[in-house]
Amino acid sequence: MGQEKQSYLFPTFARYPIHLVKGEGSRLWDDKGKEYIDLMSGIAVTNLGHVPAKVKDKVIAQLEELWHCSNLFHVPHQEKLAELLTENSCMDAAFFCSTGAEANEAAIKIARRYAQEVMKTDRYEIITFYQSFHGRTLATLTATGQEKVQIGFKPLMPGFAYAKYNDLESVKALINDRTCAIMLEMVQGEGGVLPADPAFIEGVAKLCEENGLLLIADEIQTGMGRTGKLFAYEHYNVEPDVITLAKGLGSGLPVGAMLGKAKLIPAFTAGSHGSTFSGLPTIMAAGIATMETMLEEQLPARAAELGDYTVQLLEEKLAGNPLVAGIRGKGLLIGIELKQSAAELVNAIHEAGVLVITAGPNVIRLAPALTISKEELTEGLNILCSILAAHTAEVTA
Ligand SMILES: *Cc1c(COP(=O)(O)O)cnc(C)c1O
Repeated sequence: MGQEKQSYLFPTFARYPIHLVKGEGSRLWDDKGKEYIDLMSGIAVTNLGHVPAKVKDKVIAQLEELWHCSNLFHVPHQEKLAELLTENSCMDAAFFCSTGAEANEAAIKIARRYAQEVMKTDRYEIITFYQSFHGRTLATLTATGQEKVQIGFKPLMPGFAYAKYNDLESVKALINDRTCAIMLEMVQGEGGVLPADPAFIEGVAKLCEENGLLLIADEIQTGMGRTGKLFAYEHYNVEPDVITLAKGLGSGLPVGAMLGKAKLIPAFTAGSHGSTFSGLPTIMAAGIATMETMLEEQLPARAAELGDYTVQLLEEKLAGNPLVAGIRGKGLLIGIELKQSAAELVNAIHEAGVLVITAGPNVIRLAPALTISKEELTEGLNILCSILAAHTAEVTA
């Protein structure tokens, strides 16, 4: 293979040696015309598949009308998307932004502001979890309980403390008179596709209630139907005070949202938070069309069904494979834990024409589109399993 051309970019991403140029549904093509089955959807972003027709049409229609409208004016599309999101969740109000990290920034800010300006306390500390992922801004990388994203960025933000995921006692031990919120993922995505135990989530919600803390659900990866419900909190008997969304919300265009309960509305008064690109008409059109498609086509239920099918197929095909330590997930967010590093195998799977990603050092993560056909899904999974089988034969030979 020839040497890659010199890049003009900061090398912040370890990129796979593939140049994708076109996508349609769950198929992608590279610059050499090679076809791939997509079992990753960006990273749980293109939940409707690539270039979904209804979203494309709405976005193009809006591009013909108006691109930018300052938030000094009313933006009807924001009201419409906020209505769709709140009417289909336990939430009452929305703030829009462009990325997941920004949605979590808004959540962190509203938690502090609610504690200080509405409740008139001096609380500010937020409990988050080891192995979590909440973003790359200074506040959200501090919230992220993984040292690897924090190296070289000291001093970190004050006001965060880390508990152990699925360990209620470790949460209890951190609550004090400075605590204002607990923030968590319902399935730790980047941390290795680790689902929360129902008793843990319900216990955390109870601790929040007893101690007057906000429960913030980072649903940036688990939201938008991914886990088999529109939002993953619906799997549990809880109602968060705040939900953050991004990834799947705009089908690949940059839409983020922080949703909150009515009691939080007085915390975000005029001038307290904002962004130039908050809720632009064009990206709101993408969000509206994505939500409408999600609801009309009942895609969360489809994710649940295809997720069960995927786990069953993998368990059958990978049974007894000495490389595999376990298969877990929720809906169409699935992890195959290996007894070795996943990176090398992921490259081999890509070469065989199936796109998957890692989650942590030794987990292969699957996050296919919720619209993938059962045939394409089966074909992709069979290729993946055959690569794992071939690799096993190689290492045990
Ligand atoms: C991806 C992700 C984020 C960060 O979103 P960006 O859009 O990359 O800023 C935050 N939390 C979770 C759970 C994520 O999966």
